[in-house]
Amino acid sequence: MAPRRKKIYEGKAKILYEGPEPGTLVQYFKDDATAFNAQKRDVIEGKGVLNNRLSEYFMTGLANIGVPTHFIRRINMREQLIRQVEIIPLEVIVRNFAAGSISKRLGMEEGTPLPRPIVEYSYKNDALGDPLVPEEYIVAFGWANQQDLDDIVALALRVNDFLSGVFYGVGIKLVDFKIEIGRIWDGDYMRLVVADEISPDSCRLWDVKTGQKLDKDVFRRDLGSLTDAYTEVARRLGVMPTNTTTMKPTLIN
Ligand code: UDP
Repeated sequence: MAPRRKKIYEGKAKILYEGPEPGTLVQYFKDDATAFNAQKRDVIEGKGVLNNRLSEYFMTGLANIGVPTHFIRRINMREQLIRQVEIIPLEVIVRNFAAGSISKRLGMEEGTPLPRPIVEYSYKNDALGDPLVPEEYIVAFGWANQQDLDDIVALALRVNDFLSGVFYGVGIKLVDFKIEIGRIWDGDYMRLVVADEISPDSCRLWDVKTGQKLDKDVFRRDLGSLTDAYTEVARRLGVMPTNTTTMKPTLIN
């Protein structure tokens, strides 16, 4: 058997392996789905393949409009080559419409438009259930400084405008999403880049006309087939016109 690559980190939906060159990693997309801090879990056949392709599509688009990301290139169905970054331990959440935790917290009906995009942060810590944290905590505990936070908000809003437009073009409303930000060091100089993944696992996506959910809420709330929902997103974006479950090529009209 060929020697296994060195595993650097294994998360809930992805594995990171040592990359072929220093400063690179291989990001492997698993089929595992988790929700409610991993209390609900399942294996969704084909999810990893779809998210690998979708994340490639969004990261490439972002790079093309000048937003820096960790993405280098897709390697195969489940793997992509990425820049190694120092992950800032925050989930950066952008909301355009109320849903999920903000609806619960403020008693707002899901789908209520927000007066402007709201950027908020959770501290990435599974044991604590990723608690919402104010900027004050972030700066005081040294996870990021005020300049970083200004840059993170600017990045998050650019990603929001880009994704909102791309999704709207295929009849999908971007309700909210989560990104992670990494630092890349070039000597003493540090750059912030979009890292991790951008996929329906980390966005809320509703069909503009019917309101049908096309994201991980399908799994969280038992609303049907998650693979069907993600395949529909990929199909509309023209990302993957093949059958992800059997991996057999299908005829495209
Ligand atoms: N989100 C995520 N990972 C998390 C928490 C949230 O990708 O650990 C995404 C989630 O899919 C949604 C957005 O961030 O698109 C806002 O999530 P929210 O705070 O409403 O939390 P939830 O209701 O999902 O617990």
